[in-house]
Order: sequence, then structure tokens, then C-alpha cells
Amino acid sequence: MLIVANKILVGSGEYLENGALLIEGDTIAAVGPADAVAARAGSGVERIAFEGTVLPGLIDAHVHLAFDGGADPVAALAESSDETLLSDMRSRAAQLLRSGVTTTRDLGDRNGLALRLASEIAQGTTAGPRIVSAGTPATPPGGHCHFLGGEVAGEEEIRALVQRNLSQGAGVIKAMVTGGGLTKDGPKSWESQFSQEELAVLVAEAHSAGVPVAAHAHGTPGIAAAVEAGVDTIEHCTWMTGDGFDFREDLVQKIVEDGIAVCPAVSPHWQMLPRFFGEERAQAMFELVRKMADAGVKLVAGTDAGVQRAGFDGLVPALSFYAHLGLPNSRIIDMATSSAADALGLGDTTGRIAPGCRADLILVDGDPLEDLGALKAIRAVVTEGRKVDLSA
Ligand SMILES: [Zn+2]
Repeated sequence: MLIVANKILVGSGEYLENGALLIEGDTIAAVGPADAVAARAGSGVERIAFEGTVLPGLIDAHVHLAFDGGADPVAALAESSDETLLSDMRSRAAQLLRSGVTTTRDLGDRNGLALRLASEIAQGTTAGPRIVSAGTPATPPGGHCHFLGGEVAGEEEIRALVQRNLSQGAGVIKAMVTGGGLTKDGPKSWESQFSQEELAVLVAEAHSAGVPVAAHAHGTPGIAAAVEAGVDTIEHCTWMTGDGFDFREDLVQKIVEDGIAVCPAVSPHWQMLPRFFGEERAQAMFELVRKMADAGVKLVAGTDAGVQRAGFDGLVPALSFYAHLGLPNSRIIDMATSSAADALGLGDTTGRIAPGCRADLILVDGDPLEDLGALKAIRAVVTEGRKVDLSA
């Protein structure tokens, strides 16, 4: 396939104007001036001339395909058999793909279903984005998301769960370092769930297999413990305490120095947060994300799709949050492409338009560096060199 376009995003905030890209199989074979690249394409090659912008396919670095994004995802999950759930997860994956997401990271499933779906998609029997799956997240008995089946007490059980996930193909290990709002009967969001030693064991077990660790952490002590344990990404990172927030500059500095990525997992409906948390508390939470951005933390985009009110087409609406904070569009697009790919360990595979990368692309009307809203006007999605049927 040869795609000739007015603009092709070839680097951070950098367009190639009047360029072309040549796709051979599932890979980008060449990118450059339209004439030169067109000359390389054989006569039988499908040609697409596009007046808009070509960008790398988007990455949603935090989803839960097992949750339905409805009013009570936990109840809906409990009522679903594995068979029904897997079928629903296939629809959700297809929805992600049609919204421009060509790679996603699933941070907590039940019974390895996201891992099964990931392999169906990899084999081409099901349409969907590439899925990096955590399998079942580790949590203490009764802890956050205990109903997913990953309850572990003590170091031996932690090692066994990590090994179980790895043996089923997990590409990341997820630890519920603190409580979370979704689990009404569990610890509070700011409360830590694991000891420092337990976290160290979990990280060592994952890292010895070359697999990164994603830490769900709201509370400041949990964030500190996750950093100390050497996790690779921190999810949410809201700096909560029992009665407010405790933003620690020294810890942020260490997050930057250690190259830990932070996925704030802000909801597509972030504008509604002041109504849920109160204006003052919501603004304080927003401000802390801005402070992390200003400090140079490697932020990546994710939506927590599947939890209450977060559907599987919400990545672009969620990105508007970062524009609201004043981040430049170039950085926001990086958060959902190259930076996210790096954080998922896929920086050489996807998230960039360069020769050798997988042909994961979106074609949009307009100029997203000028107006982020242009990302909503998706005209085509290409995943591993294949055009996606957007009419489904
Ligand atoms: Zn989550």
C-alpha cells in the first residue's frame, strides 16, 4: 500500500509535507518525499491519495476490556460467564480499533481472558488492537479488584501469580499497590496494600523474565513504595492522603531520573470530575498532573476504559484534558503514540512512522498539531498494514 498525504507526522511535532509512505506486508518500508517513495512502489500496489494528516496509530495505555464501562462494571462482570465476557471483550476491542487505537495495554482481566483475546488478535482471527495484557492483577486478600481472582498473601503466592500470568503470555505485570474507588469493600484509594518487601519480590520476578511492572497507586506512600521497588509505570499517581494530597517534589524528581512513566488514566469525561469530587478537590488533582508534566515526568495516555463512565472510544476526548492543562499538542500526541509505545516496551515496533515500524496508522482530516480535535475526524485506520473496516 502506498499512502500519499499532505502531512505525515514523522517525529515529535514534526510533519513531512507532501510525503508518502510505502507499506510492505505489515511493515512501513519507506517514508519520504512523495515522488521518491512512489517510484519505489510497484505498479500493482494499492494507492491512497489523502488530503489530511497521517499519524501513528494511537495507544491507550490503560484499559480493562473485562469491564463494560457502565454504571456498575463490577456487578456486570460478576454476572458474566467467561464465554459471554470474552465475546463482549471482542466487541470492545473492535470499538477501540475503530476509534484509532491500534495498540492497547490491558491492566487487569479475569481468568486470562484478555490474554486469550490478545492471541486471537495476534493470529488475525479477531479484529482489534495489539493488546499488551497484564493478565490478572496482584492484590492482597480482599484488596482492590480482588474479584478478578488475583488475591495473593505473602511472597510465595506473589511469585506464583506472576509466573501464572507470564506463562499465559502477559506482557506486563500489574500490582494493585493501593486501594481504588472501584472496590467499595476494599482499602481506601490512599491506603497501601503491599509491604515494601512484597513489592520488591513482585518486581524482581517480573524483571527476571524481562517483563515490566505497572503499579496502580493513588496514595503517596504507595507511590513512594512503587518507586522504591523499581516499577516501570505508575498508574493514576494522584498523590492522595486520607484528607487531601501530598505531592512530593523529591519523589517526582526520582520518577523522572528513573525514567518511570506515569499514566494518569484520566477519564474521557474529565469535565465531570468537579461534580463528583467537588470543584476544589478536582482542581487540585488537575494541578498535580500539570506539576508532574512541568517537572518532566514521562506522561502516557490512558483512559481506564471499562470502569464507570469510561467507554472504549474515549481516548481522544480524554486527551483534551492535557490541552486544558496547557500542554502543547505535540507532547499530547506523543503521549498517545511514541511515549506510550516506549512505556509498553514497544518503542521499536509501533508508535512512530519510520521504516521498520509496524504499519499502525490513522488518517485524519485537518491538522492535529494545530487543533487536537482533528483526531476525532478519523478517515482510516491501518493496523499491521491492513485497513480497518470503519463501517462495522
Ligand atoms: Zn485501571
